[in-house]
Amino acid sequence: MPTVYYIDTHCHLDGEEFHDDLDAVVQRAREAGCTKILVPAIDLPSCQTVMEVCRRFPGYAYPMLGLHPEEVKSNWQEVLSSINCQLSTVNSLAIGEVGLDFYWSREFEKEQLEAFEEQVRWSVETRLPLMIHCRKAQNEMVNILKRYARNLPGGVFHCFTGNEIEARQLLEFENFVLGIGGVLTFKKSHLPEVLPACVPLDRIVLETDAPYMAPVPMRGQRNEPAFIPHVITRMAEAYGVTEEEICRQTNENVARIFFP
Ligand SMILES: [Zn+2]
Repeated sequence: MPTVYYIDTHCHLDGEEFHDDLDAVVQRAREAGCTKILVPAIDLPSCQTVMEVCRRFPGYAYPMLGLHPEEVKSNWQEVLSSINCQLSTVNSLAIGEVGLDFYWSREFEKEQLEAFEEQVRWSVETRLPLMIHCRKAQNEMVNILKRYARNLPGGVFHCFTGNEIEARQLLEFENFVLGIGGVLTFKKSHLPEVLPACVPLDRIVLETDAPYMAPVPMRGQRNEPAFIPHVITRMAEAYGVTEEEICRQTNENVARIFFP
């Protein structure tokens, strides 16, 4: 019997990294206490693979459809209209993953901004929460979200790794929470100080971002949902609460945002 029960709110379970042993990965997740896995699409082909993987684990893996900022190219409008069609026929739990990423390149900056804003509007229209990826672009992202803030249903700022100022700025958006994963356990991470200083536990959800971001002591390996208990342990230490309390709060947050 697992000692904790938690939800992985961001896992690329459809990735080819899991192709050969997907059933074993999900089996280990269940045994570790993971009760649900939310699976984000990143582009048009992955909308298909995400749906396939979620059909394989009904009531356990849940799809989110969207266009990832790093996949935004000059044909983004066609891609978005195709994803939008699927949204109306598919039980997508959220719009994601969407956002802005200027870490590697600003080649498609304008396109990224427009594609993100379009998908923010989908969230307003459909009332589906946003699963947001943001790297080196917080100001630009906040500027877009502010235009819709009063009408947004909520969502997740996934893979948060910022400082206190950045955390406070994001938490000004009501019904939005920070997605926290393996980075919390990294030796040089400031998150163990930043989070308890300014982020109440009702504003956090757990995630792997698997296959990336494996927590210590698995750092560098392929990440998977069964590794989240290492994050829970570190978070409980940082907040000075029990692991059960971390799970209770974060599960409640997932229910509020994704299963209202
Ligand atoms: Zn992701």
